[in-house]
Amino acid sequence: MSLNALFDGAAKGHMNAVCITQDHRVFVAEVPVPVPVEDEVLIRPAICGLCGTDLHILHHGFPGSVYPVTPCHEFSGHVVAVGGAVRGLREGDFVAVDPNVTCGTCRWCRAGRPNLCPHLAPIGVARPGAAAEFVTAPARNTFKVRESLGADLAAMIEPLACVLHAVESSQGVKDRDVLVIGGGTMGLLIGIVCESFGAARVTIADPSPIKREIAGRAGIARAVDPADLGEAYFDVVFEAAGVRRALEHALKRVEKTGVLVQVGVHDAEAVVGINPFQVYEREIRLIGSNSLADKFPAAVDVMSDISARAAVMIGETFPVWQFAQAAEAMAAGRGIKTQLNFL
Ligand SMILES: [Zn+2]
Ligand SMILES: [Zn+2]
Repeated sequence: MSLNALFDGAAKGHMNAVCITQDHRVFVAEVPVPVPVEDEVLIRPAICGLCGTDLHILHHGFPGSVYPVTPCHEFSGHVVAVGGAVRGLREGDFVAVDPNVTCGTCRWCRAGRPNLCPHLAPIGVARPGAAAEFVTAPARNTFKVRESLGADLAAMIEPLACVLHAVESSQGVKDRDVLVIGGGTMGLLIGIVCESFGAARVTIADPSPIKREIAGRAGIARAVDPADLGEAYFDVVFEAAGVRRALEHALKRVEKTGVLVQVGVHDAEAVVGINPFQVYEREIRLIGSNSLADKFPAAVDVMSDISARAAVMIGETFPVWQFAQAAEAMAAGRGIKTQLNFL
């Protein structure tokens, strides 16, 4: 499609988009094709990954979400049009997108911590997401990816970028004994990245035998039921389950001077019981890791290195217009990464 033809279409055209309302309804609506402004590109998504955040938006509401919202912030696709000021991207480019649209000028953005920007408006949360025939994104959030990686793996660059931020937040995993609590997308990617960054040993703990089996197929050295961890302690513990019990358990497994990195997205109102004497006695460091900071470009490269292991995690794929069924399958825990296609 030529750029002009597209804009002609956009002026009068409509497209299908998945819409979620505040009262938890999900349906496909006909909405105007978005028109990219000066510094934006228009993308035709190829694959969207479903994420816990999408389920939060559907079932509970998620801080910052603007309803009705078109979900999906993990995606890959092709550029179909570019705004007048865009350089370095053109029609036909295969891309993955950092969904975190920020102001670029506040103290957090300038410090390389755009995830903490007070003006953060993520694609698929506060602005329309990729569960639609077209989506716009700022050019600075859009990264070229080699087509041979595949649209499914390119759509996993976003969670991988979150993982790179979490692993960096841990202040180093080389030669460390690492425990990852939670064997979902984030947990397994953390395990894979820690192994490739030289961790002495990685253990994934998840009560689901299906997830442990997939961890094994992804080449993770050790996957156990949390109940079987016994009294073992670990230098670095990642809590990637997003449930209270997992976080409480994680703290009990941290070795003296060790680090607990909390990556799991908990309900905004959740409160956990922490034993402050343990934190004091063992000089434990508690670190929060929020989204992907500035790690998206690094994740484009790392995904190439770990693509064979990451591919094992891709589970069921649904047509995007069956969003509700896909969300149900994901909530039921069938497989690890549920994806949506546009076939
Ligand atoms: Zn996500
Ligand atoms: Zn900012």
